[in-house]
Amino acid sequence: MQNDIQEILISEEEIQQRIRELGAQLSEEYAGRTPLVICVLKGAFIFMADLVKVITVPVEMDFMAVSSYGGTTKSSGIVKIIKDLDTSVEGRDVLIVEDIIDSGLTLSYLIDMLQGRNAASIKVVTLFDKPSGRAVTLEAEYTGFVIPDAFLVGYGLDYAELYRNLPYVGVLKPEIYTK
Ligand code: 5GP
Ligand code: MG
Ligand code: MG
Repeated sequence: MQNDIQEILISEEEIQQRIRELGAQLSEEYAGRTPLVICVLKGAFIFMADLVKVITVPVEMDFMAVSSYGGTTKSSGIVKIIKDLDTSVEGRDVLIVEDIIDSGLTLSYLIDMLQGRNAASIKVVTLFDKPSGRAVTLEAEYTGFVIPDAFLVGYGLDYAELYRNLPYVGVLKPEIYTK
C-alpha cells in the first residue's frame, strides 16, 4: 500500500498537531453547549474519531453517509443519501465534520438539508480544503489544511475504497489510476 504513494503531503504528526488545535478552538466555540457532531461517512470517520477526543465539551455524535463521486475522482454534483441521521437536528447546534471540501457540492447540499430540518446553528469543520475546486461559494468555519488541487488519499480518503487506513495523506503514483 505504501508503495503506491508517490509523495506524503502531510505527515501523521502534522495532522495530529493540527487536530489538537482545532479541538481547542471548537471547545471554546461550544463552551456551555452540547453540540451534535455529525460525521460525513466514510471519508471523515478517522478525523472525527481523533477530533472528538480533543474536544473537551460534551458532544453527541451521529453519522451520515452520502455519495457524490461514484468510482471516479471528480464530483458529479449528484448527492445521494445512503445513510441518514438517527437524531433529530431540530434546535440543535450542529457541527458537520468533513474530510475534504473540493467543489463544495456535497456540503452545500447537506447544509441546505439540515437548515430545512431547523437546526439552531450549523458549522463545518473540514480537515482539508481545496479552494481551487469550488463550484459553489462555501467556506468551512474551521479548516485543518488548505491544499493544492491534487487527488489525495490516506487518513480516511480513498481511491476505489483503498488507502483510507494510511495514517498520513499523500498522492498516488499516476500508474495506479491508469491500471
Ligand atoms: P465535493 O462535493 O466538495 O466536490 O467533494 C466532497 C467529497 O469528495 C469529499 O468529502 C471526498 O469524499 C471526495 N473528495 C474530494 N476531493 C478528494 C480527494 O482529493 N481525494 C479523495 N480521496 N476524495 C476526495
Ligand atoms: Mg466527505
Ligand atoms: Mg471517496
